[in-house]
Amino acid sequence: MPPLFLGCHLSSSRGFLALGKTALRIGANTFQFFTRNPRGSKAKALDEGDVRALRELMAEHGFGKLIAHAPYTLNACSADAHVREFALETMADDLLRMESLPGNFYNFHPGSHVGQGVEQGIALIADTLNQILRPEQQTTVLLETMAGKGSEVGRRFEELREILDRVELRDHVGVCMDICHVFDAGYDIAYDLDGVLTAFDRVIGLPKLCALHLADSLNPLGSAKDRHAPIGEGCIGLPAFARIVRHPVFAGLPMCLETPQDDAGHAREIQLLRELADASERSAE
Ligand code: FE
Ligand code: FE
Ligand code: ZN
Repeated sequence: MPPLFLGCHLSSSRGFLALGKTALRIGANTFQFFTRNPRGSKAKALDEGDVRALRELMAEHGFGKLIAHAPYTLNACSADAHVREFALETMADDLLRMESLPGNFYNFHPGSHVGQGVEQGIALIADTLNQILRPEQQTTVLLETMAGKGSEVGRRFEELREILDRVELRDHVGVCMDICHVFDAGYDIAYDLDGVLTAFDRVIGLPKLCALHLADSLNPLGSAKDRHAPIGEGCIGLPAFARIVRHPVFAGLPMCLETPQDDAGHAREIQLLRELADASERSAE
């Protein structure tokens, strides 16, 4: 089995090396970070020395791929052309800066169609991707599976598939499965993990699955609410997370916690998930 790459979302304004050191301190070997302030304000140029130091730390400690998260306020399928343009420019700039940290992931929320209809949303999102992706880029852009709150696009696997189908540079795009979101969207990841994975494979194809967000859900299956809970403290439950960290389909993918916890809480959750994964390896021997 490849190593388990577990981490969490980290926020820091102190730079990349500081993020890497925080990750190590809490037992993580991957992490997620915002590419800029979540409100999407102007980003500083990357400090090349700082990025190099993080890359060295990651190599030395066997980190998995990182997940950069676009500001969640962007909407690539807004009805307002200015809002779409802002999303496009922000994402294009983020992807340029990500080339200093090659070989990692850039995850974004597909967007909300706000009354235009899901088909129009899908067309606008694919159009944005076709304008920002470059053949030579070394970052894979990930569409996040969404809970379906409001008019969010990406609740159903079919919607993500339709976006991917329209992208010209298909090798540069993939999917990040958010466990809380898929459950809220109505996929029973708590009691039928294999059924959900079969559906994902049939509609999108498992090779497109690149990363995982881990959080329990405060609300029941299909609630479309998107309220994250600590691992084991929501409607998904600990046994489901044990099955997830043990599942061979997810082996080697970065799994980042998105739970309402401080660093100490995240450290406990990472340790708990590693213990659950180890317990199954021992029982398999
Ligand atoms: Fe997200
Ligand atoms: Fe997420
Ligand atoms: Zn969420």
